Amino acid sequence: SSSTTPIKATLFPGDGIGPEIAESVKQVFTAADVSIDWDEHYVATEIDPRTNSFLTWESLQSVLKNRVGLKGPMATPIGKGHRSLNLTLRKELNLYANVRPCYSLPGYKTRYDDVDLVTIRENTEGEYSGLEHQVVKGVVESLKIITRTASMRVAEYAFLYAKTHGRKKVSAIHKANIMQKTDGLFLQCCKEVSEKYPEIYYEEVVIDNCCMMLVKNPALFDVLVMPNLYGDIISDLCAGLVGGLGLTPSCNIGEDGIALAEAVHGSAPDIAGKNLANPTALLLSGVMMLRHLKLNKQAEQIHSAIINTIAEGKYRTADLGGTSTTTEFTKAICDHL
Ligand code: NAD
Repeated sequence: SSSTTPIKATLFPGDGIGPEIAESVKQVFTAADVSIDWDEHYVATEIDPRTNSFLTWESLQSVLKNRVGLKGPMATPIGKGHRSLNLTLRKELNLYANVRPCYSLPGYKTRYDDVDLVTIRENTEGEYSGLEHQVVKGVVESLKIITRTASMRVAEYAFLYAKTHGRKKVSAIHKANIMQKTDGLFLQCCKEVSEKYPEIYYEEVVIDNCCMMLVKNPALFDVLVMPNLYGDIISDLCAGLVGGLGLTPSCNIGEDGIALAEAVHGSAPDIAGKNLANPTALLLSGVMMLRHLKLNKQAEQIHSAIINTIAEGKYRTADLGGTSTTTEFTKAICDHL
């Protein structure tokens, strides 16, 4: 309640529709009486030499100090000689796991109505490291690095997540039949960790088969853990199963308990500044942040208000087939609170 000392959290409104949906989060949190003191940081217009990025050193320090934050979409300016904003955050804050719950929203009809799964993506290595070079003209090489340290870290997180969230099964997704050494090591780590959690069913699923199972019957899955590139692809596939990018939240987990929640969509330049954006993904990311802070009561209240507003169907944004503006939809959620 408002009588308690507010918790400081970093807020990156971000670019494009970011500031509009961040405003929505601030209003809903205020209506729910969540005592968060937002420390707002915008992307700079010039490169900060201390980070070699448009993300300032002060912004990074803010997350390091607060240990928790919420991030809107960021559009990395095109041009050479600086690091992408998202990559800077990931590297500097050591955000090693990306967690995305995907579940059917009651009242919003998609192809499936019984999806309830969570993808956990290793976020620091694999093909994603960008270690590429030309060997000779016409021949290039990319290095896929998998380490025991990073694989154990994400596997430990996946099982701990499953246990603390009452989940029954963890599926490790791989292509170890071909990538025998790299994916083989990843699997070995998952298997090792699974032995410490006999109450959780553990299975290994080859990625191509996993894709087919996901589109045929997503209810077969519970928690999925996987290397970086597979996670990039599978997590978007899963977002598509439940209604698209405007609805899907995520949270990045860093070492020593840092959590940076973020919507999975981009800055949507086509609708920016038009009061048309759907704030649900960022709002649900905010809910993940509250759960991380153990503010479960307010997290549930806000979660229900969002679900009920969408289910009622009276106020929906254009991406969900409605005609409401961002502000009208936000007000409807506040009224539900
Ligand atoms: P995008 O997600 O911004 O947009 C794809 C489509 O989805 C667009 O038609 C857009 O209008 C729609 N859309 C996305 N979010 C929506 C929302 N909340 N409500 C309603 N409609 C929504 O993807 P893009 O166009 O490929 O990327 C645009 C910019 O965003 C690029 O600069 C890209 O680098 C950046 N980006 C950033 C992140 C991030 O910060 N995590 C992620 C993806 C893309």
